[in-house]
Amino acid sequence: MSKTHIEISEVGPRDGLQSITPIMSTADKKAWIAAEAAAGVREIEVGSFVPARILPQLADTAELVAFARTIPGLTVAVLVPNFKGAAAAVEAGAHKITIPLSVSETHSLRNVNRTHAQMLEETARIAELIMGRPEAERPKFEGGLSTAFGCTLEGAIPDATLLRLAEGLMAAGCDEVGLSDTTGYANPAQVKRLIRLVRGAVGEAAVTGVHLHNTRGLGLANVLAALDEGIVTVDASLGGIGGCPFAPGASGNIVTEDLAFMLEAMGYETGVDLEALIAVRQQVQAALPAVELYGFTPESGLPLGFAQGQGWGASV
Ligand code: ZN
Repeated sequence: MSKTHIEISEVGPRDGLQSITPIMSTADKKAWIAAEAAAGVREIEVGSFVPARILPQLADTAELVAFARTIPGLTVAVLVPNFKGAAAAVEAGAHKITIPLSVSETHSLRNVNRTHAQMLEETARIAELIMGRPEAERPKFEGGLSTAFGCTLEGAIPDATLLRLAEGLMAAGCDEVGLSDTTGYANPAQVKRLIRLVRGAVGEAAVTGVHLHNTRGLGLANVLAALDEGIVTVDASLGGIGGCPFAPGASGNIVTEDLAFMLEAMGYETGVDLEALIAVRQQVQAALPAVELYGFTPESGLPLGFAQGQGWGASV
């Protein structure tokens, strides 16, 4: 029986590094990306095309895209805040570009000083740019619906707003939309409900990925809810770096090592070698000695007799 493949999309080099003060050297970033790809992770968000004065931590994104493109089989993803960033991303040869759109307009204005209408206009310009490239060079274009599960400024987000923006992004030319729990407000029932709701509006094929946080300890529970709905790409960050960890002791982003362990133990196919992944964590910790890494699996170790690709807990 063939197993279901779940894509773990590593966002640490972008979401993680943008949230911490130390700036990782380009050489250390390349070593991280190479080692994690060698451990079997097939999609890595290597950076964001934002001005270096805003995020000096990510100033080397173009160089990282060029480097990551040399790794066979790796999908090289980046975030872009606007048209200018998207043009740079396409030029650099990113395979997948995501533009985040805050479903909370207050958050959008606060973060990028743009209204929803302005963001959708920007998205349409980017889609036009992509369609102007030869087919083989067109990156996959995703609209990321951030604060989809609630906002620290606006609180609950009306379903109608979420649906209008999901439809707006698709109409503007996105290939897909992703639901993003920027604030860590999501719970499993809500994850299921919103995936169904948005799919009902834009189609099942247009919603395949989620970006969930672990701010309130519900990260993996939310992943499970998303898997039940047929989601096949899940973002996570090595050591749980980044993603605004408000609560002490809780990671912001979902921890890649714990996610990979859960999926492999459940019998999903991730392509990730857990021992190798845990070794990458040690490498990243050595490069960022002042940064606290999260995760239970790396601290506790794998169950006795756990064999890669065998699952765990089925009858023996
Ligand atoms: Zn995040």
